[in-house]
Order: sequence, then C-alpha cells, then structure tokens
Amino acid sequence: MSKYRFDAIVKSQERPRIVIEEKGRRSELFGIYVFNEDRMLQYLTKDALESVRNAMISGSKIDRKIADQVAESIKAWAITMGATHYTHWFQPLTGSTAEKHDAFFDLLDGKPLEKFGGSQLVQQEPDASSFPSGGIRNTFEARGYTAWDPTSNAFIYGTTLCIPTIFVSYTGEALDNKAPLLRALSAVDEAATAVARFFDKNVSKVNATLGWEQEYFLIDKALALSRPDIVMTGRTLVGHEAAKGQQLDDHYFGVIPDRVLSFMSDLEKECTKLGIPVKTRHNEVAPNQFELAPVFEEANLAVDHNLLLMDVMDKIADKHSFKVLFHEKPFEGINGSGKHNNWSLATDTGVNLLSPGSTPMKNLQFLTFFINTIKAVDTYEELLRASIASASNDHRLGANEAPPAIFSIFVGTQLSAVLDELEGVSKGKLSPEEKTELKLNVVGKIPEILLDNTDRNRTSPFAFTGNKFEMRGVGSKTNCAKPMTVLNTIVAKQLQDFKKEVDALIDKKSLKKDEAVFNVLREYIKTSKRIRFDGDGYSDEWEKEAARRKLSNNKNTPSALQVLTSKESIALFKSMKVLSEVEIAARKEVELETYIFQVQIEGRMYNELVYSYIIPAAIKYQSQLIKNVMGLKDIYGAAHKKLSDGQLSIIEQIAEHIAAIKSLTDKMTDARRIANKLQDMDKKAFAYCENVKPYFDQIRMHSDKLERIVDNDLWPLTKYRELLFHK
Ligand code: ADP
Ligand code: MG
Repeated sequence: MSKYRFDAIVKSQERPRIVIEEKGRRSELFGIYVFNEDRMLQYLTKDALESVRNAMISGSKIDRKIADQVAESIKAWAITMGATHYTHWFQPLTGSTAEKHDAFFDLLDGKPLEKFGGSQLVQQEPDASSFPSGGIRNTFEARGYTAWDPTSNAFIYGTTLCIPTIFVSYTGEALDNKAPLLRALSAVDEAATAVARFFDKNVSKVNATLGWEQEYFLIDKALALSRPDIVMTGRTLVGHEAAKGQQLDDHYFGVIPDRVLSFMSDLEKECTKLGIPVKTRHNEVAPNQFELAPVFEEANLAVDHNLLLMDVMDKIADKHSFKVLFHEKPFEGINGSGKHNNWSLATDTGVNLLSPGSTPMKNLQFLTFFINTIKAVDTYEELLRASIASASNDHRLGANEAPPAIFSIFVGTQLSAVLDELEGVSKGKLSPEEKTELKLNVVGKIPEILLDNTDRNRTSPFAFTGNKFEMRGVGSKTNCAKPMTVLNTIVAKQLQDFKKEVDALIDKKSLKKDEAVFNVLREYIKTSKRIRFDGDGYSDEWEKEAARRKLSNNKNTPSALQVLTSKESIALFKSMKVLSEVEIAARKEVELETYIFQVQIEGRMYNELVYSYIIPAAIKYQSQLIKNVMGLKDIYGAAHKKLSDGQLSIIEQIAEHIAAIKSLTDKMTDARRIANKLQDMDKKAFAYCENVKPYFDQIRMHSDKLERIVDNDLWPLTKYRELLFHK
C-alpha cells in the first residue's frame, strides 16, 4: 500500500488511548477559571464592584482609578491561579479569535515584579496591522486598539489571563465582530425594553439570548494529517464515497464510542471550568459527526463561549489524537455540519418574551414580539442570508443540502391559526364583544406548550420552536456574532417602528393601548405573509413558490453579499448605530476577499492533488497493467488479446480519466489566472465563483472514478472508509 497512507493507518491504530472517566459534580467546577460575580465579590472593593456591575448592566464607562483597582484585583486572583501572562482576547474579521500575550512580569528601577494596571486592562495596542480591515486602515489610521468589554468576564486559559475586548481603529471604526454585536445588542435592548414596557413597567433591560448547537466531525489525527486537502482546506476535495455512509441511520443518537466519549468528557470538564455551560452531547447523522450544545446565555457571552469552545476543542482533540473538522462540508455524500442559533429575548424581570404565557396579557406580549420578529425577518431576509454566507457554507445553503438559501419562517399550525384569526380583527376601535372574543378565545387560548413547535419541521431555516426562534443556516465554522448582529439589529429596527406606530394610534386616533397593538399587529400579519412557510423547505416546488413570493434565493457567497451595501441596508445599520457606511463597505470587502482566498486555496490544492498524487498513482497502475499485457503477449503471442481484454479496457479508461482530469485542472488554473488579474473585488469573487469553482466537481468526479479503478495498494490518499470508519 502507498507508504504514506499505510503509515497513517498504522499510526492511527497504535496511538495511546486516553480514558477519562468523569466523577464528581460539575457545578463545583463551573467557572473556576472565570473572574465572575463570586470572584468579584471576593476581590473587588465595593466601589469597583458597583462600577463593573453598572458597566455590565447599562454599559456605563469605568473610570481610570476604578479600572486600576479592578486590574489590581484581577491580577491578584490570576496570579493565585497560576497565570503568568495576560492578553486582550479579540475577534478580528478573520472569523476566529486573536491574542497577543504579555507577561505580568516587569522591571521597576531594575527590580523584578508582577505588574498589571488599569491602562493595561482597559486598552491595548496589539499592532495587529495584518488583520483584514477592508481598507479602513489605509483610509484612516494605521493602528488599531483593543478595548475591554466588561460584559464578558475575564478568564484564565492555560497560564494566560484573557480579557475579552473589542478591536477598533483609532478613528473608532470596528475592525472586529464583537463591536457591532455589542452595538446591535444595545439597540435591541433599547427597542425591546420600550415595547416590553407597554406590558410591564418594571422592565428596564432586555437581553438577547443565544443557545448555539455546535456540530463537528472528529477524525483520527494521523488519518486526517495524511490528507493534504484536509490539512490545507479543512475538507476532502476528492474521495469516493464509502460503500456505507449514513443510509442505515446507525450513527445518529447511537452509543458514543469510548474513545470519543473520553474526548467529550475531557472537553466538557475544561469548558465547565471556563464557565461554558455545556449540557448536551450526542452522535449526529453522519459517521464520526457529533454535536455539543450548552445552556443558552446572553448573546454576547454565548458568542464568546462558542469561539472559546472551538479553540478548546482543537486543543483537547489534539491531546486525544483527534482532529476536529469544523468545515461545513468535509465529506461528500454524507451530511455537513451547521450551528443552529436558538435566539430569544429575555427581560431583566425574568420573562422570555417569546414564550407564550398563562394569561391573555402575557400572550399579547408574546404575540407582539413573535409577530415583530416575523416582520423583521420578512423585511430583511436577504440580509440574514448574507450574514451566514461563506465559501464553506455554500456547500450547504443552496447546494444539495439543508437548509435552503431561501429564508422562510415555520410557525406551526396552532400559531398559524392564531395569526389568521388576528388578521380578521376590525380596524380602529374594537367593540367590547370583539375584545372579549379576542382575549378569551384567540389570545387567551394560546397554549403554553405548542405541540407542533418542538422540532418538527427540520427543513425550515428559521423555525419557531415553542419559546424561541431557531436559525438553522448558520455554518459550523461561522462566528455567531455575524448572524446575531444582523438578527438583533433588524428586530431592534422593527420594534422601534412598531412602538412609533402604536404610539401614533394612541395619540392621534385615541385608541386604547391593546387596541393599537392589535391594529398594528394585524397589518404586520398581512404584510409579512410571504415569509411564512410550514411545508418542505427542500422541495423544488418551494423554490418556485418562493420565487413567486419574491424571496431572495442567493446560492453563492458573492451574490449573497451584494445586499450588504444596498441603500436599505446602509440606512438600517446607520440608523441603528450598528455599522457606519464605511464599516459596511469594509466588511463586504473582507468577506469577498476571504471568499476569494478560500476558493483560490482549494484551486491550488486541486492542482497539487491532481499532478502529485492522482495522476502518478493512475500511471503507476496503468504501467503495471501494460506490463502485464506485454507479458501475456510474450507468452501467448496473438492469442493474448482474448486474455487481456479486461486489462486493456482498464488501461484505456485510465488514459481517458488522466486526459480529462489534466485538461480540467489546466483550464481551472487558467481561469484562476484570469480571475487574479481583476482588481474589482466583486468581479473577482464572481469570477472565482462562476469560472473557477465549477471545475472542482468535475475534477473530483474523474479522481473518484480513478480511485475506484486503481489498485488499492497504490492509491495514495486515505480513503473515506478509513477516515470515517476506523475507530
Ligand atoms: P431540546 O430541543 O433539546 O428539547 P431546548 O428546546 O430547550 O432543548 O433547547 C435547544 C437549544 O436551544 C439549546 O441549545 C438551548 O440552550 C437553546 N435555548 C433554549 N431556550 C432558549 C432561549 N430562550 N434563548 C436562546 N436559546 C435557547
Ligand atoms: Mg436544533
């Protein structure tokens, strides 16, 4: 067998098996590495504690003196925990996190000591000038700085104190994913609080909540490393499907293999210490695919925790000789991975605003937030689609996999019936009978548990699941900050408009508050109907129907990103103070550039695979066959023809595939050359999408055919059955 592949298989079987058996209570481990409320109580002075709390709740500034005190306390705690360094932990537009460590160690007049002051806590200049900025740095100021986000607790990771921060340019433009998220969360807080106060004057803050569900593949490290495509692109660019895939459904929710369970236990223990409230783990549909989900949290914290989780996963996997694949489509022919984003709004009085209640008034509040969310998604569906666009997620959205690139909302039969009833409410003032009818028989009858809203319609990209919405198109690799920024911004805008309309009806038409609410909601139900769809989101009929409804259906990243810079999007982000026009343009630029690079890297990788792996292997086998045929001729003379029929046919098949794969690869390389000459980022991204990428599947087809023909011993690339079924 090809030595490379053979060595990997041997190595994968020889690795030491780590067995982790979890004992004890997780609650006792929870957050021991986090500078959380408990630690603050213990370490901070009363003033400092108050100041941090205010900053967390209302976003107020922390003054320098207090910052010094806080820094001193965090340092004292961190050092007792064994930390030697600190870092500002931030989220550049690369999609992952970044850090630059500094030691606490310093010299003061030649004397060694541990130092960490307020200024180091609050602000740092990482000279991170190589991160993508979409041109912001050229036009403005070269430097960027990071600034403390006191709403997400500092934590110790390894021996480093990590301080969650935003990353902005000196002129204030966001260079990261966290700053816009915080602005969006603040916008939705303001708008939702104002609306919630229609129903309860005690509400003074509304938090967006997020519960993500992380799907991933776990592959033996030695096997994964033997595949150059997995190493370079995170997915297999070629590879024939294994005889067995997921058709038997024998993996989904199956018994978790011991080796994987050890990894999971170890991972969850680390997460628990880091304050990530992990809760659920199970096998997913595809072989070697798994899922991890935490208890939901305030959205900013949940985003940080997801990013941290992905990092911890990499490290713990390595320890267990695994490689985690976060790519949305690492293997052809079996399911890809996503990251459902469960989202809701919660008041500081402890009410989930998307949870139906036990009284008509509570249900009117529920309906208000429910219908406003539907309306927001209807208005800005294309923007939501853009928020989850990426080269890797294109393999799911709009490709042959769920969920579709078309946004629609599943509400279920019970709530559909309620919406239909509300649509019939008469305009203006309501008669006492109508009011009673509404309260008792429509709004009052919404059950607290909605039967068909658990998880029934798996094909809906935006499903109401009983007490939250579940956004299902988010990619497994995606930073949730991106969809969460858009979702919270559009809901904020919608709630703001709603409040204005209700107030106007109360002031100008002297309607009662609930009458005004009913009147506005009725119009929203009418005007947002096209987004509601409870049927099969994967069907061809839906695609046609959605086109009739004029819903967007952007099947690739360059098309999906166009809406970012539309007049409407710019107006939205500006008015909600989430992104300026410059920031939006910069983001689009970065997204397009990232897309181009990712496709380019795959293109280059195809070149290498074809020329250095696939063609040589095919030729080797073909040469063996030729030698065999010549041998037969030597022995049997003219009679050899009958005996070498099969061989000759394989020799010819190989020749055809080699010619085709070579020609396609060369054409793809030419297409890349042409695309690379384009200066305009939009044009370049489209060129990569439309002229380069289509060759990939064709190249793959020939490679996979060759894999099937060529002697197993000569095939150099670790096969699907080995990657997916060797335990
Ligand atoms: P299940 O679907 O397994 O029965 P749930 O419906 O309670 O469980 O939750 C599924 C996911 O939704 C979990 O990740 C959970 O954290 C998240 N979730 C539940 N409630 C909310 C909420 N109010 N806001 C955000 N996420 C939530
Ligand atoms: Mg789910």
